[in-house]
Amino acid sequence: MALTAADLRPGRAVVTGGAGFIGSHLCRRLLELGCTVVAVDDFCTGAAANVADLAGHPRFELLEADVSATLEVAGGVDYVLHLASPASPPDYLALAVETLDVGTRGTRNALDLALSRGARFLLASTSEVYGDPHLHPQPESYWGNVNPVGPRSVYDEAKRGAEAYTMAYRRHRGADTRIVRIFNTYGPGMRPNDGRAIPNFATQALTGQPLTVYGDGSQTRSLCFVSDLVEGIVRLLASDEPMPVNLGNPEEVTMLELAQRVRAATGSASEIVFRPLPEDDPRQRRPDTTRARTILGWEAVVPLAEGLAPTLEWFRRLAEGGSR
Ligand code: NAD
Ligand code: UDP
Repeated sequence: MALTAADLRPGRAVVTGGAGFIGSHLCRRLLELGCTVVAVDDFCTGAAANVADLAGHPRFELLEADVSATLEVAGGVDYVLHLASPASPPDYLALAVETLDVGTRGTRNALDLALSRGARFLLASTSEVYGDPHLHPQPESYWGNVNPVGPRSVYDEAKRGAEAYTMAYRRHRGADTRIVRIFNTYGPGMRPNDGRAIPNFATQALTGQPLTVYGDGSQTRSLCFVSDLVEGIVRLLASDEPMPVNLGNPEEVTMLELAQRVRAATGSASEIVFRPLPEDDPRQRRPDTTRARTILGWEAVVPLAEGLAPTLEWFRRLAEGGSR
């Protein structure tokens, strides 16, 4: 029988990176499901404002800490969800060593916390473990094509190391672990200046600036709306599956097409301009979601056209100087 989010036994969940884009949505969903949530964040790419609506919630707490240095949470813990990490390419290139640290030391600290409390641990990994993939779409069995000395390695290898730590703690220390490989995810709550394609295109279109397509725009991504992703993460947390599971929307678009769709959906007259392709930028990306479908009964249900509407509305409010 297919899993549902309601299969998650309510408990006390520590969410590292809880004040980030995905983390803040996940905190809200866990609270709805009856969990008590402790978000831990150092605000390097997130902000307390992302969870300001939860301040005062009787089952929510926000702690400021760099989880690469230490992760101390008093009291019982049932789940540790490790999402802390810069995630946008400009962010992780600006925070290169910090990104490596949070994938390695931060993951260890999160695993140690889980182990010490008998809590289940979930790692937020990424489709970037597949690098610039030769196999398309990407199944979990693919080992990837990552340049270990390229600029993106600070993120890709940090996450590959995080997966290796997670499996080592499982195999050698008895930790109860889950690994989700997240494909490009978007939605309200993203930072307009985080440098990723959707925030850039949306903000550019809404403020009358040119939309900056890198390279010739023929590279592809497959974009998942954040509510779909959060549903999949909760199901994986509730499941018994120890090996990595891809979560993403297989609807694949070129970046030029994405820019055109954002421009059309905002009614913008901005032109599209072409800028140099960043080094090692993956040519193509689409999840093989067979495992998510068979193990979790999960698949993305929000098509891009539908998910773009509330996302563009979010960026419109911010562009007009409004609050979150
Ligand atoms: P985000 O930058 O909005 O959130 C990351 C959060 O982690 C931020 O609040 C940041 O302040 C916090 N953080 C970073 N380093 C920290 C540290 N050392 N100590 C404490 N907090 C720290 O990014 P996001 O898009 O919400 O990504 C969340 C997670 O999901 C990341 O682990 C990312 O690698 C993963 N992921 C995201 C995507 C995506 O498309 N959004 C895709 C693949 C994987
Ligand atoms: N991209 C782009 N213009 C931008 C920002 C990004 O063409 O203003 C491209 C980028 O080169 C990549 C794709 O869009 O090919 C997705 O980039 P993003 O940073 O959103 O995610 P990631 O590269 O991590 O998948």
